[in-house]
Amino acid sequence: MSKTKSFIYSALIVALLVGDAVGGQPSTASPCFPIANHHDEVVHFTENVFLLLQKAPASVTSWCRTTSRNRLVKGVPGSLHLRCLAVDVVPENRKSRMLILHLARRFKLLAIDEIDHVHLETVCFARPVHRHAA
Ligand SMILES: [Zn+2]
Repeated sequence: MSKTKSFIYSALIVALLVGDAVGGQPSTASPCFPIANHHDEVVHFTENVFLLLQKAPASVTSWCRTTSRNRLVKGVPGSLHLRCLAVDVVPENRKSRMLILHLARRFKLLAIDEIDHVHLETVCFARPVHRHAA
């Protein structure tokens, strides 16, 4: 990416963040309220992915995986895809990619740039977990 475009995207992200800070459009992301069970965990996660994708358009290319599919695509053992708590998305364009990477935390998501896609997983759990996996 050129320095000019990088600057423009950075300025755009700062403007979005400042806009919220000074009373602009409030964030509608769901906080990590106490989550009772796996069903609620999945609902909470998918809602936050949906809200993020309203600000940064992207296509979901992977969500829930079986263990055999996870092995086939060389996912890490214990991947959150196995619990439907991770998605892979292909951003619509570079601006969208930058926004996803910068805004994910506000939507209680960990974003990992895997070059040909962005892996998003929840940071909110019903029970303690011991790992994060792409
Ligand atoms: Zn993934």
